[in-house]
Amino acid sequence: MLRNCGKFQTPIRLLSTVQKIDYKLNPNDIPGDATIFSMVQPTGTFHLGNYLGATRVWEDLCALKQPQQKLLFGVADLHALTIPKPNVEEFRRFRNEAIASILASGIDPSQASVMYQSSIPQHSQLHWLLSTLASMGYLNRMTQWKSKSNIKQSTQDDAAVGNVKLGLFSYPVLQAADVLIYRATHVPVGDDQSQHLELTRHLAEQFNKLYKTDYFPLPKTLLAPTRKILSLSSPERKMSKSDPDKASLIYVNDDPHAIKKKIKRAVTDSITDRFNYDPINRPGVSNLLNIVSGIQRKPMEEVERDVAMMNNFNDLKNYVTDVIVEELRGPRELFARFMKEPDYLDTVVTRGTEEAQQLADQNYREIANIVGL
Ligand code: AMP
Repeated sequence: MLRNCGKFQTPIRLLSTVQKIDYKLNPNDIPGDATIFSMVQPTGTFHLGNYLGATRVWEDLCALKQPQQKLLFGVADLHALTIPKPNVEEFRRFRNEAIASILASGIDPSQASVMYQSSIPQHSQLHWLLSTLASMGYLNRMTQWKSKSNIKQSTQDDAAVGNVKLGLFSYPVLQAADVLIYRATHVPVGDDQSQHLELTRHLAEQFNKLYKTDYFPLPKTLLAPTRKILSLSSPERKMSKSDPDKASLIYVNDDPHAIKKKIKRAVTDSITDRFNYDPINRPGVSNLLNIVSGIQRKPMEEVERDVAMMNNFNDLKNYVTDVIVEELRGPRELFARFMKEPDYLDTVVTRGTEEAQQLADQNYREIANIVGL
């Protein structure tokens, strides 16, 4: 969109950098020549937050893929190592399960390239080039390295900061390289990744400015309507694979009994005569309603209308349980099936890696040429 500015009529390009996806993805939402890229870390079984925030959107994008669009979905195994993984066997299993989980979420490997980040060395090569443009001050303002090292956001504690590993501090730069190596235009992620995508756009701009080029597009954040799914036991935090309290998350392969038990124990509040979406005052109830709205692809007002007749938590929680159990039935069954088909998983990853590698290789040659390497 072009805007005239003041008496000089200077055109300013207004870039909408965050695009919130509607409950039902519309084919016209994404340009026909878009390159769409996203990843998930192999740090444990996928949960409802990964599913609603990321992989189900990926599934929708596969279903609506247009011939010229490129879809690339990866397992961010290098990122996972920013929290050391001395249990190598477990890490291997998580990497493998992550591929099975992506496919179990409905991602169609004939439409999307599915691969491991570590198999494409150009991610790391571009990471180095971008790290020469990323300032310590900008990285210092990022929140995730602090929360992952249990450091307060406004810390002045030099000793605590001094212990933080370089990889954890700088991994948003690798994340920028992950996206930019494919010259991705759209990145479907949950709300927790918004800050990292701002850095990605910033680094793309820095690169373009320095080398007087428009090589890198500024990728848009494609934000799922549910934005952030919260922990069931502490709804002030996001649902997270690394949460030691396993009752706080619903895994995509949880059986109905486990889902029922966890929802029954979910923290709510004491207002039982109505259930409304009020994330500030009623975070627990709002989280449950947000989950239902995400699964049913319904705006919140409709979900509120559906639960308006309920006047006790038993009814609400039974309803939420049924909605989740029904939604996760397919992914759970598929996950179990794919875990018994290692050859199939290998075939998918081999093909996905070849496709991604070809694009990354071609782009990196062009980038190296721009930089003078
Ligand atoms: P991660 O497991 O951190 O690699 O995240 C993989 C994807 O899931 C990213 O797009 C995240 O934004 C998304 N995600 C992770 N946790 C949540 C959550 N609690 N709510 C919504 N999206 C999430």
